[in-house]
Amino acid sequence: MSKVNLIDNPFPLSQIKGLGPKRLSVLNELNIHTVEDLILYFPIRYEDNTIVNLNEAEDQATVTVEGEVYSTPTVAFFGRNKSKLTVHLMVNQIAVKCIFFNQPYLKKKITLHDTVTIKGKWNRSKQEINGNRMFFNKQSSEEEQYEPVYRIKEGIKQKPLRDMIRSTLNHVTIHEWLSDELRNKYKLESLSNTINALHFAPDKTSLLHARRTYAFTELFMFELRMQWLNRLEKTSDEAIEVAYDLPLVKQFISELPFELTDAQKQSVNEIFRDLKAPIRMHRLLQGDVGSGKTIVAAICMYALKTAGYQSALMVPTEILAEQHAESLSELFGDRMNIALLTGSVKGKRRKLLLEQLHKNEIDCVVGTHALIQDDVQFDNVGLVITDEQHRFGVNQRQLLREKGAMTNVLFMTATPIPRTLAISVFGEMDVSSIKQLPKGRKQIITTWSKHEAYEQVLNQMTTELKKGRQAYVICPLIESSEHLEEVQNVVALYESLQAYYEPDRVGLLHGKMSSEEKDDVMHRFSNHDIDILVSTTVVEVGVNVPNATFMMIYDADRFGLSTLHQLRGRVGRSEHQSYCVLLASPKTETGIERMNIMTQTTDGFELSERDLEMRGPGDFFGVKQSGLPDFLVANIVEDYKMLEVARDEAAELIQSGEFFNDQYNRLRTFIETHLLHMNFD
Ligand code: ADP
Ligand code: MG
Repeated sequence: MSKVNLIDNPFPLSQIKGLGPKRLSVLNELNIHTVEDLILYFPIRYEDNTIVNLNEAEDQATVTVEGEVYSTPTVAFFGRNKSKLTVHLMVNQIAVKCIFFNQPYLKKKITLHDTVTIKGKWNRSKQEINGNRMFFNKQSSEEEQYEPVYRIKEGIKQKPLRDMIRSTLNHVTIHEWLSDELRNKYKLESLSNTINALHFAPDKTSLLHARRTYAFTELFMFELRMQWLNRLEKTSDEAIEVAYDLPLVKQFISELPFELTDAQKQSVNEIFRDLKAPIRMHRLLQGDVGSGKTIVAAICMYALKTAGYQSALMVPTEILAEQHAESLSELFGDRMNIALLTGSVKGKRRKLLLEQLHKNEIDCVVGTHALIQDDVQFDNVGLVITDEQHRFGVNQRQLLREKGAMTNVLFMTATPIPRTLAISVFGEMDVSSIKQLPKGRKQIITTWSKHEAYEQVLNQMTTELKKGRQAYVICPLIESSEHLEEVQNVVALYESLQAYYEPDRVGLLHGKMSSEEKDDVMHRFSNHDIDILVSTTVVEVGVNVPNATFMMIYDADRFGLSTLHQLRGRVGRSEHQSYCVLLASPKTETGIERMNIMTQTTDGFELSERDLEMRGPGDFFGVKQSGLPDFLVANIVEDYKMLEVARDEAAELIQSGEFFNDQYNRLRTFIETHLLHMNFD
């Protein structure tokens, strides 16, 4: 496929003046390989050098001012290699003392009665500016007003990079992607002006305007891609119609130890409708922790089995895979043959398992990302489910899906992604929600205690243990970054609790343990051989021990709301009253607010919104992990309204069929060559 470029006359980077092999390799390290990459290498921020009137400047603000030098500058040296340059300026009729530390060479450049421009921090009461920059050519060129600041590396400085971009922009012709109609409708600039302004904004208005145009363009292209892919998928006639045996499935449901909630029933119905229809299911099942998604998944997997298909369940951690495999085996008894495939399944066992899988002797395989390895081959997989889908990248999910050409896909998540956002980002995905907890569940009582109250918290825990309940004690570590030092913290806590309670009634779980060890302690905890599990966040996802009713989260302010919510979901899984104590002495406003929010609500949807307000999408959705794409300029949450508009416009263009006319050849090829391979992980 020929590669279509954003610009008409691309030339190799090496043709740029002043770009030798050394700098070229630095640019390559910055991921700039073509002129296109270079002109799309946008500043990370802009330095505002607008000259201000000092009379209106706020105290302690960073200001750029212009003034006349009225005293000969002096330099005082002190300490080792330290110096202080003092110069007096008359700025807006204010006599200002300007000091520059460790820039003695500036002295030579300043002449009495010259007009100079300086930038620094204004101290109103002392009438002093602590300078950090001095500009010598008066700011004639307005371009300097918003000075672009790029991410750079050793080997290239801001100015040469800026000059290079400027000269390149003068030599290329940039295509227009948006139709005149769209541009007029939304008052957008041309792409060429936009890219120019993003580098060299003449003023704030143009900069904002350029930002808006570019963000829209990105979102629009992205939505075109999503909608196009969707159209391809939905119209593919390869999808299977799963002819499940309804009486058998009903029988199975009636033998469950509990009755399904209405929300569960409805989700099952929605999924079954998809399975039966000649389309590929592409559905998100979302429900707060503890809402009972697993059983819904199980019913679906069983339905597949009755129609002669295999299914796969992919989960993010080994512990979770083991737990799921175990509880599913128990649930199904002789009905289904369940297998577990994780990184720890190796050698002969693995080989045998793969053979059985290939021969359709296994009905359902539960596993971690070990499932997407090349040699894992199904006979006929008809349903792929990923649990806690935000933990996997799009590519991983895609790989799993490709194991069966016509597979139905169900994503399960406890991260409440607002429906519209999910649709905009993942494409036309159907959503089922379980917004109801099983009957008889009591609200988890969440309280916040400072560290001083540790003793009291332990007493509270003891009370629960005496009632025959169990407890989690969580220590703030993120699995992937478990440094030895932090592991020692968990171990120390574990040992102190062993000393406080009976040593053999306390267990320890962290990411540095072998999977056998983890397995063992999890078993002991779920069999109630131990009362307390001291753990890092490895316990976060999906773990299910209903008898555990108490959770203490140590240094809770170090976790984000979403993690805290997920953790808390490990308790409150039975008819007993559960408690969650946040032990924290937060120093920041954010930390305090987080603790307050946690004590106020147990509603995951509300928490996600509060978290969004507080921190933006990156943290809650874990942009990198969630498959939410990273744009150059657009921000999925801040530009959310724009995303919706872009989505509607893209849908219109694709559904009307207009997108497939000749006039869009170029855009289609661009999207195919560039965006279809966009790596979202
Ligand atoms: P999650 O949605 O967090 O994955 P689970 O599927 O792990 O939730 O379910 C949590 C607990 O609730 C499990 O012990 C499960 O057996 C139980 N459960 C699920 N559905 C029901 C129901 N309808 N009534 C009672 N208990 C249920
Ligand atoms: Mg679950």
